[in-house]
Amino acid sequence: MTTTRSKPDTDMPSSKEKNNIWVFGDYRNYFRNRVTLQLISRARELAEKTGAKVCAVVFGHDLDEYVNEYIAHGAQIVYVMDDPSLKSYNVESYVHLMADLAGKYMPDILLIGATSFGREFAPRVAKRLSTGLTADCVGLEINDEKLLVQTAPAFGGNLLAKIITPNHKPQMATVRPGTFTEQPHDDTCTGEIVRVLLPESDNMPKNRIRVISSEYQPQRDKKLEDAAVVVCGGRGMGSKKKFKKLFDLARLTDGETGATRPVVYARWAGHETLVGQAGKNIRPQILFSFGISGAIQHTAAVNDSDFIIAVNKNPNAAMMKIADVAIVADANQFCSALIRELRKRLRD
Ligand SMILES: Cc1cc2nc3c(=O)[nH]c(=O)nc-3n(C[C@H](O)[C@H](O)[C@H](O)COP(=O)(O)OP(=O)(O)OC[C@H]3O[C@@H](n4cnc5c(N)ncnc54)[C@H](O)[C@@H]3O)c2cc1C
Repeated sequence: MTTTRSKPDTDMPSSKEKNNIWVFGDYRNYFRNRVTLQLISRARELAEKTGAKVCAVVFGHDLDEYVNEYIAHGAQIVYVMDDPSLKSYNVESYVHLMADLAGKYMPDILLIGATSFGREFAPRVAKRLSTGLTADCVGLEINDEKLLVQTAPAFGGNLLAKIITPNHKPQMATVRPGTFTEQPHDDTCTGEIVRVLLPESDNMPKNRIRVISSEYQPQRDKKLEDAAVVVCGGRGMGSKKKFKKLFDLARLTDGETGATRPVVYARWAGHETLVGQAGKNIRPQILFSFGISGAIQHTAAVNDSDFIIAVNKNPNAAMMKIADVAIVADANQFCSALIRELRKRLRD
């Protein structure tokens, strides 16, 4: 059964409310933006090793829908600050509230999605709490000392560094959307909802930003991060015209198209297709990789794919080494042949 209680922001937390794992509730663009659910799921796995509770923290107005979602996806406590003045995301007031709450409840770990908002919000919270922050993590573990091991690209993405924060709390990390998998929605999950009252307005920062209007930007139906099939191409495709074939192949396989950075820089494909450290993490059931060398900035974001088929004229390319099937061929010719064959089969 889910229980609800309210407490003024001056109430002190009980001992069971301290040293927990917190996840910031970033619900903008919900249901498409699933990063909070992904983090709650990973937090539950981490909590098995630390014995902590997993808590979501959410600010805004009319939040019940999100609160119930967080519980159905594994949050054990949800701290809610619900007030009309918090309706629009505002980095100054949100930082103030999060720093105050975290300073009082002393979570052991604080996880935030590396969304555009999370990226401006998290460093400010870390500064206010005088703790460290590992940005853009692609992995989280708990070590034998029960510290959070945060894996993140370092030195321009040429290395993956494992970072710990042994001396300061909370241990803070932002995590790329798509890095972890959310646990399925379960209506039988229960949790506690703690409605924390907003501090007196005198204790809130003056809003220097006023939202005049906001407009929903429609998105395509599918997202690269969620696609079961991704057809990804690199510089080895040769030209914009040849690269277009990958969009045809993606349509035929009911998949999405991804690209490497040189492809995006050359404007053969839009920025939303970028896969890698500067773009998206993907984990499709089938990944086609055409003419891609396999630099770590790219492969770190595709490693979790179930099955990789790489086509490259160089058998020693790094991408060929991590592929389940490595085909030494001209990427453009192989893609054309595959399209012909698929069309034929669809016609027959
Ligand atoms: C800070 C930083 C962030 C970065 N972020 C990203 C990122 O998010 N995503 C990303 O992708 N990169 C990123 N990069 C760039 C990355 O290091 C690589 O340069 C890039 O991934 C290489 O792209 P590519 O494989 O398309 O091109 P290349 O490295 O040029 O490889 C082309 C490949 O195609 C093969 N080839 C050539 N012709 C053919 C042919 N006719 N048929 C078949 N194969 C052929 C070649 O053998 C080669 O393996 C980043 C780099 C830095 C420094």
